[in-house]
Amino acid sequence: MTPRDPRRSRPIGPGHGLAVSKLASRQYSGDMGAAQQGTAAVGRIVSINPATGVPLGDVPDLGEAEVRALVAKARAAAEAWGGVSLDERCRRVARFAEVLMERADEVIELVTREGGKTRQEALGMELMVVADLVRYFVRHAPKILAPEPIRLHLFKHRGSYLHFVPRGVIGIIAPWNFPFAIPMGEALMAVIAGNGVVLKPSEVTPLIALLAKELFDASGLPADLLQIATGRGATGAALIDAGIDYCVFTGSVATGKRVAAACGERLIPCTLELGGKAPAVVCADADLERAANAIAWGGLANSGQVCASVERVYVVKEVHDELVARVVAIASSLRQGDASVEGAEVDLGAMCWDRQLEHVAALVDAAVRAGAKVAHGGQRGKGGLFFQPTVLTDVRQDMEIMRKEIFGPVIPIMAVRDEDQAIELANDSHLGLLAYVFSRDKARARRLAERIEAGTVMINDVLSTYAAPETPWGGVKMSGIGRTHSAHGLRDLCQTRHVNYERLSLGAKEIWWYPYKAQTYKTLLRAARLLFGKRPWQR
Ligand code: NAD
Repeated sequence: MTPRDPRRSRPIGPGHGLAVSKLASRQYSGDMGAAQQGTAAVGRIVSINPATGVPLGDVPDLGEAEVRALVAKARAAAEAWGGVSLDERCRRVARFAEVLMERADEVIELVTREGGKTRQEALGMELMVVADLVRYFVRHAPKILAPEPIRLHLFKHRGSYLHFVPRGVIGIIAPWNFPFAIPMGEALMAVIAGNGVVLKPSEVTPLIALLAKELFDASGLPADLLQIATGRGATGAALIDAGIDYCVFTGSVATGKRVAAACGERLIPCTLELGGKAPAVVCADADLERAANAIAWGGLANSGQVCASVERVYVVKEVHDELVARVVAIASSLRQGDASVEGAEVDLGAMCWDRQLEHVAALVDAAVRAGAKVAHGGQRGKGGLFFQPTVLTDVRQDMEIMRKEIFGPVIPIMAVRDEDQAIELANDSHLGLLAYVFSRDKARARRLAERIEAGTVMINDVLSTYAAPETPWGGVKMSGIGRTHSAHGLRDLCQTRHVNYERLSLGAKEIWWYPYKAQTYKTLLRAARLLFGKRPWQR
């Protein structure tokens, strides 16, 4: 029997409705850590509003058998769905974006309450990203997944083409920082590609996944096609072991390594979207007003909990002081608070969970002890899980704050001799997800961009390519393997199969088939010399 939450009028958990408006509330008790560890009830995980500490609901911590059952359900649904034409699949997925927009207020409300982010971030970085991704792939998937002919350069009498076949069940393991956009973008792409999906949301933000499932079902898509496996890390590990055909993992490098090993053991292909440490290189000729605005937003949006956040700034020394002054002016003008309060005008919300706040505070403290100066902020905020928007100067490359992922609202700024030094320091990292270059000289900016070891380098802009579904998203080095979004990401959700066929019949057999004759050998050798040896006129 499904457990009932005494605070709620309906059962909760996978397969059950989620009435956000009916979520009960309680004042912040100060025991946020205990709540997030799910100590309220054995086998349940409590979700809370990080800005207030108010519990929002709780979900089951699913075990191996339950996860297997979800995979089996998704597989049964996927078998039928994979037989539906691609055009029809696109037509039906398009409805998801319409339902999302109809119920936008409800989704934004929960994203702000469970994720701690501002309403504008919830709308712009979560809902609109998914709605546009749906619109893009619904329009372009038929082209991207159409059979692709291959012209054969040698075997002229034969033809080849690729075709893209649904893999079956895609397991999606998601983080908490974009609890709607990341898993739902991936899930909807997987469904367009003809697959079923089992999503393991972060244990920090499970309710958003349950609401997303509700929207999915309300769109008229087959109810069993998307399954939500709530739980902690063990549930994610169980998902990889439950017979999925592909794993899309987004999370930390440490967990990514475990996921890669588990997938390797089972020979399941996977995409790994891991951490980032995005450098911003600011040239002497940069438009400093734009650079400062971009760096402030790119470092502080979503309280810095973005894998593509500006995490280190290398600015040429001539313009260092002016850039710092501009970034500090912006940071000090920002209003921080609980964005879930009706009508609140807030620029910066809460950090999503207590462990992340502790990590950020520890990194800032260590940097200050090692000689960094706090140009703005540097402290925890009052009430919930807030950390002030922070600008650090006098940082050095050997400080942890310049080497470890911060994942918080902190912008360390370092003066460099010139652009060459900036590029060298930008590349001095084990991570390589996003990077940014600021310069007015378009050609030079591109040359610098091409020298940076990152999956994506943006010039005079930050973060926004995640909202451009036609562009690939993913990193180099320890930032991950594979790409989401783009034609590459969509095709990865399919098996790429190759058919080779006869265009022109050469009779009963090819010349190189049995029997092997001395004359055939001589003919083949002559042909090989003609094809691959020096041309007669070159000899
Ligand atoms: P995390 O690695 O702690 O957890 C991610 C997910 O993995 C969670 O759902 C968790 O329950 C699950 N998990 C934990 N152990 C597991 C195991 N052994 N097997 C399977 N699943 C397991 O990461 P997080 O703290 O939720 O997210 C923050 C990290 O995610 C940051 O490093 C950030 O940079 C990264 N991230 C990357 C991208 C990207 O696109 N590259 C996007 C968002 C976040």
